[in-house]
Amino acid sequence: MRLDAATLAGQPVIVGAGVAGLLTALHLAPRPVILLSKAPLGLESSSLLAQGGIAASLGQDDDPALHRADTIEAGAGLCDPEVVRHVIEAAPAIIEDLFRLGVRFDRNNDRSLQLGLEAAHRRRRIVHAGGDGTGRELMRALTAAVRRTPSITVMEGLEARRLAMRDGALAGLLAAGPAGSLALATGQVVIATGGIGGLFTDTTNPQGAFGQGLALAARAGAELADMEFVQFHPTALDASARPMPLVSEAVRGDGAVLIDETGKRFLNGLAGAELATRDAVARAVARHLAQGHRVYLDARGSLGATFAARFPTIAASCKAAGIDPAREPIPVRPAAHYHMGGIAVDLSGRSSVEGLWACGEAACTGLHGANRLASNSLLEAAVLARAVAESLAGAAEWRARSLESTVVPARSTPVPVRPIAARALGLVRDGQELAKAAATLLPLVAEDSPEADPALVALMIAISASQRKESRGAHFRGDFPRTDAAPIRTRLTLAQALAVARECAALPPQPLAWSA
Ligand SMILES: Cc1cc2nc3c(=O)[nH]c(=O)nc-3n(C[C@H](O)[C@H](O)[C@H](O)COP(=O)(O)OP(=O)(O)OC[C@H]3O[C@@H](n4cnc5c(N)ncnc54)[C@H](O)[C@@H]3O)c2cc1C
Repeated sequence: MRLDAATLAGQPVIVGAGVAGLLTALHLAPRPVILLSKAPLGLESSSLLAQGGIAASLGQDDDPALHRADTIEAGAGLCDPEVVRHVIEAAPAIIEDLFRLGVRFDRNNDRSLQLGLEAAHRRRRIVHAGGDGTGRELMRALTAAVRRTPSITVMEGLEARRLAMRDGALAGLLAAGPAGSLALATGQVVIATGGIGGLFTDTTNPQGAFGQGLALAARAGAELADMEFVQFHPTALDASARPMPLVSEAVRGDGAVLIDETGKRFLNGLAGAELATRDAVARAVARHLAQGHRVYLDARGSLGATFAARFPTIAASCKAAGIDPAREPIPVRPAAHYHMGGIAVDLSGRSSVEGLWACGEAACTGLHGANRLASNSLLEAAVLARAVAESLAGAAEWRARSLESTVVPARSTPVPVRPIAARALGLVRDGQELAKAAATLLPLVAEDSPEADPALVALMIAISASQRKESRGAHFRGDFPRTDAAPIRTRLTLAQALAVARECAALPPQPLAWSA
């Protein structure tokens, strides 16, 4: 069956219906727009799973300058200061926008916003909703707002699989789903497809979040930036549920300790122990697991019977896995959580391809640098959604033209790519494993197979990681543990990545010389 798209030709298309996609569509109203989502609206997005909240310097003792300083410190020398200034200063207005759209934030008795504290923030500035259910409340309110906005045509159950190009320019989008395939003629596409955690078996992201939007953009010639920076959360619940539920840092903040199967604490050598940075704890946990141990978070002594009242969402996830955190330690392991890299965009969300915008986790503005400060990602998604809508509204009219090819590729699967990602792209990387990964992924990318798009994204991460011969932020090289004096950001097109990968595949296994 082929869906009829003639009546929609020429309208801008937003791919993805998390916070970034929904807000872009809402800010564009009353201008007509198509909102495409492979999952039914309101389901299967990282946005839905967000627990902590949105960072905004609203407290009496706070100031955007302090929020900027915390962001830049977390970013380990790679944040773009202009982007940081722009996004952080927009935060109070963003909270106001969301309030107007119906988001019910948690408030104090005097109606002022409750402000939470998170790791690496020097002030209480996390605006939240439903306690640890911020994402659920955001998605409830934004989905309802989209449903009552007549200018937004929602197309659910459709996966974007290619951008169609004509004479080097964006000409349309090819999508397919259980109901059939669709070729939409359009010169304006916004990629809002979220993160890449689904490239890994162990992830807190939805399984379908494997960066397909990044693959679409890269195949259309767009530059991707900071691809090597993947943030791993140290304590995801190690049970069968996927996505893996988070066991938040706040549990460690309340005194829970990491132990192994013998009951021994094993972080003693790490400065700050359980409260060291997310990367340092994640690497220590991964190292202990690699040595054949099991790792548990023990909250029996610190929280005990108060656990469920203090952390209801985590307690519910534990209960579903048959674990009672008041009486037994919680099995945990690190999981891919957030991607700092993505489609390189400016402050309007414009990519390097005319007519192609990106926002949310799929985009890379330079806000996060080498590591994201907690609760800055929903903020960035919301700020950029408004900027993209304004940029789109001001862009020249586009006249629909017929598409040269409307052959829609097969449905993607990241499953064959996951073992490669786990081996080479995890918490500790080294040149040889990265080289092997690039050589293995290269033929998969070239084929028009179901694993081609996830393999492309993994390849771009592998090449960027191989070129960064230092350890910085979330990127750690076992063979280059030091941090260079001069911070340099990585930008890469698919053609450049393929050229390096070909070099790599042609070389003997070792030693390997990467181009700088
Ligand atoms: C467990 C968890 C907790 C978090 N907590 C916080 C927090 O407290 N604060 C914070 O700031 N950040 C948090 N984050 C990060 C934050 O939630 C995400 O960065 C943000 O929600 C991303 O929004 P998005 O709209 O870009 O992507 P998503 O919300 O992931 O939405 C992506 C959308 O794209 C669709 N899609 C994907 N591919 C295709 C395709 N090919 N075709 C069509 N549709 C497609 C998906 O179905 C989905 O609708 C958390 C993340 C996780 C996983």
